[in-house]
Amino acid sequence: MGCRSVSELVQRANLASKLTVSGYERAARGIREDIAISSGEKLPAQYPSLREAMIDGAVGVDGLVAVIAPLSQLAGDAGRGAHLAADEELSACARGEGVDAAPPAGAEDLRALAHVWAVYLDQDGAEPRESVAMRKRGVTLGVARDGVVPVRGQLLPEVAAQLQRIFDALLSPKLDGPRFIDTDRPARGSSLAPNGGGTGEPGGGVDGEHGAPDQVDMSTGAQKQHDALATALSVAARSGELPTIGGAAPTLVVAVRAEDLASGRGYAQAEGADDPISIAVARHTGCEGVVQRVVSDRSGRIVGIHTLDRVFNHHQRKAVSLRDGGCIIPGCRVPAGWCEVHHVTEHARGGPTHTDNGVLLCWHHHRTLDTSGWAIRMNFGIPEVRGPAWWDPLQHWRQTTTSRTRMLDRVIRRQ
Ligand SMILES: [Zn+2]
Repeated sequence: MGCRSVSELVQRANLASKLTVSGYERAARGIREDIAISSGEKLPAQYPSLREAMIDGAVGVDGLVAVIAPLSQLAGDAGRGAHLAADEELSACARGEGVDAAPPAGAEDLRALAHVWAVYLDQDGAEPRESVAMRKRGVTLGVARDGVVPVRGQLLPEVAAQLQRIFDALLSPKLDGPRFIDTDRPARGSSLAPNGGGTGEPGGGVDGEHGAPDQVDMSTGAQKQHDALATALSVAARSGELPTIGGAAPTLVVAVRAEDLASGRGYAQAEGADDPISIAVARHTGCEGVVQRVVSDRSGRIVGIHTLDRVFNHHQRKAVSLRDGGCIIPGCRVPAGWCEVHHVTEHARGGPTHTDNGVLLCWHHHRTLDTSGWAIRMNFGIPEVRGPAWWDPLQHWRQTTTSRTRMLDRVIRRQ
């Protein structure tokens, strides 16, 4: 008849949409009686009772489509018997002869009932579906473009759920849990926005010991999730529980020319990435890691290797955590376990790996320290921060901590 397919023929004959006709086709496959190729005799339909019910007018086309759709998604080896049981039960319900003597079921009722049957029968058929999922799983990193690397892939549901849990833990808006800043909540110091007048002191605090306003984080939800992933990856890398590469933890390796690092211009290179990265990233990576200085002569021959271990050991880390409580940027509540220890005075400028020179910063605030406008200094071993001008026009240095012990200390001293 000049049509490419049965679907096209039915669409033309009935003026129906492709979607509607695909439902018809699926329903038809469920109730048609195929002819055996060898003997030419008629074979029973897949759902004989539903077929009878349709011929009798007890089930309409709508009802049949509603029922067959969920059943046809079942793996074939749910068992012929199981399909026949569903067939019998569903057609009985359509006729009003079900076990609970309910009135004849309409298309919507049949759809709901068929879904229940599909779930029930799928218990035997869950295995094949899972093995399909196992084959489909995957994560790939694409080619960098415009400074970002696309991530593509399909996660198994439990892996996605685990990732979501990590996001939730890091992005939880609850005060008692770790979190990044909730953008929907106005900062307490927001009355100080340009032209805000007021007292000129964010949050009304005067001595900087208390009342520091929360910071407003402009990141989008997706950006926050990116930073949460970065945090989780760096925590995993330093956990010591991942397999090693070449005898060392799977640490990010960044190479940079000493001159470029000193001048802050040029580019660095991350091992395994084609695109160059900025000097700021190299600083961030080097701040908490091991720096290996490789000296080569003009021809490229290596003439010296110096390794500077400047990782804060776990005793120092615990002590710093006790002092700072978590990320020291006001309003950021990322807890100590998720934070990195930042050298306030760069190692290259003589800053020691000492608790008097280390403060806790979350991945996001560590990474953006050069550009965010936050400044950090140590005042006799106590970290102080100065916010960007829009946040604090008076540019006060303020002590911050979320450490419960230090806060308790202050309360007792005030008393
Ligand atoms: Zn932070």
